[in-house]
Amino acid sequence: MINNNVFENKKAAYYTLGCKLNFAETSTIGKQLAEQGVRKALPGEKADICIINTCSVTELADKKCRQAIRKISRQHPGSYVVAVGCYAQLKPDEVSKIEGVDLVLGTGQKTEIAKFLNSFAHARNDDRIFVSPIKDIHTFTPSCSKGDRTRYFLKVQDGCDYYCSYCTIPFARGRSRNGRIADLVKMAEEAGKDGGKEIVLTGINIGDFGKSTGETFFDLVKALDKVESVERFRISSIEPNLLTDGILEFIAQSRRFAPHFHIPLQSGSDEVLKLMRRKYDTHLFASKIQKIKELLPDAFIGVDVIVGTRGETDEFFESAKQFIQSLPVSQLHVFSYSERQGTAALNIDYQVSPQTKQERSRQLLEISDRKIKDFYRSQVGTSRQALFEHTKRGNKMHGFTENYIKIETDYRISWINQLIPVTLGSFNENEVTMSI
Ligand code: SF4
Repeated sequence: MINNNVFENKKAAYYTLGCKLNFAETSTIGKQLAEQGVRKALPGEKADICIINTCSVTELADKKCRQAIRKISRQHPGSYVVAVGCYAQLKPDEVSKIEGVDLVLGTGQKTEIAKFLNSFAHARNDDRIFVSPIKDIHTFTPSCSKGDRTRYFLKVQDGCDYYCSYCTIPFARGRSRNGRIADLVKMAEEAGKDGGKEIVLTGINIGDFGKSTGETFFDLVKALDKVESVERFRISSIEPNLLTDGILEFIAQSRRFAPHFHIPLQSGSDEVLKLMRRKYDTHLFASKIQKIKELLPDAFIGVDVIVGTRGETDEFFESAKQFIQSLPVSQLHVFSYSERQGTAALNIDYQVSPQTKQERSRQLLEISDRKIKDFYRSQVGTSRQALFEHTKRGNKMHGFTENYIKIETDYRISWINQLIPVTLGSFNENEVTMSI
């Protein structure tokens, strides 16, 4: 229960689960409450308000959110607990029943959190769920996470119109929409002036940028490449069919866009890609990887793969594995398929057992381990620019090169958040880091 003047001398604690977009949005919520006079609770300090930005990409994500909410409300007894984000949008009743939850806000309400706190925080009542039907959400709310990390996350797009058969995100985040290029360029300039050396472009399907403004993702990339106050941009993740040759050729000659690509493949089998309702086949995917390697031979390419989706027979998995092994990529991000309520995949009869999923995951992680070590070895002796982070581990610090090589070196306070020219030295296989 909070006294009548809801925000006066209040402290808030923020917890974010899930994707980079969630981090950017939590930062925006924090900024809004700070404008109302709510300061961020220091570590160990008891907060008056707790904001949990949830994720619902898998069953496991839901479970982690429930655990986090219970733990946070125990850590901050008597605080006003607000759950926002995808889990809150998809299952508001379930979230409202989690012990400690006082208020549940959906995708359309989370950015008006101050208004809801003002109305409801000073009196406990039954109106605790405020979630609009996802079809009614059309507004794009810009976000940029500032200051609490070396990298800034700039939200450029939200929602998705793809409806892949295994995915609930379109039901949690709504139709594809985006900010205007002019506004996003301004936000990037401000982040740069604020000390942001690197900005990660985030969204749900960022290659689909432009749906709500008639602009294109390529236009956005070209406009951001002119932002002098920012040293480098990274594209968080982009669908293969939306990563055009034009964008790749531009990035290959651009001064600011990093040679680092994160591209969802999801399956290396055309039959399974059809069942997933993905918008490309393995031929297109392979041609994109080849194009990247032609233009940017030292580019880092991370690839998402889901194992054990419905319909993934042993035969399809074997052909998928062969295809993935043939790709000159740097790392795999391997996920186990998770049954999601309301998805079309549930209409596919063939199911994969948990044990088989685990085994397939193990096999792909083994391939990934070989690929990333081969990639790191190929970089020994090359010259790069590394951005060093503020975190100190023992007497060491870490940084990342433009092509996403992790560097470990002696701690130098003068190198924090600085881009330093380096020559890559030896490769530490256990830590998957490079010396300089
Ligand atoms: S592209 Fe597919 S997997 Fe990605 S968010 Fe959209 S529906 Fe989900």
